[in-house]
Amino acid sequence: MKSLEELCCQNSECPKYGRRGRGNLSVCGRIGRKRTIRQIYCSVCKARFSERKGTVLYHAKLPAEKVIAILDHVREGCGVRQTGRLVRVSKNTANRYILLAGGHAKALHDELVALSP
Ligand SMILES: [Zn+2]
Repeated sequence: MKSLEELCCQNSECPKYGRRGRGNLSVCGRIGRKRTIRQIYCSVCKARFSERKGTVLYHAKLPAEKVIAILDHVREGCGVRQTGRLVRVSKNTANRYILLAGGHAKALHDELVALSP
């Protein structure tokens, strides 16, 4: 579980959007089927959001460990079908999380790399 200092406001219209460690976030509840996901409150814009918002785990039906296992297998070079078999999910499920992670990776790449060759 990440500390609040590692999270940032997810409201794109908030002045603290995307800024970590500003002291504007607090935990205001628990959400999810097992109540294990923290609901975060921003004191600047008064928004509430899941601590998973902006990640591959946002609205994930699988347990976080399984999603991470899927991405670990892909990172090590496994294909979609092989990953699905090893993690015991369908290839479509594995593919869905792989595509989600790919979108996040592309956004990060575009943010961090000034000029892509
Ligand atoms: Zn905010």
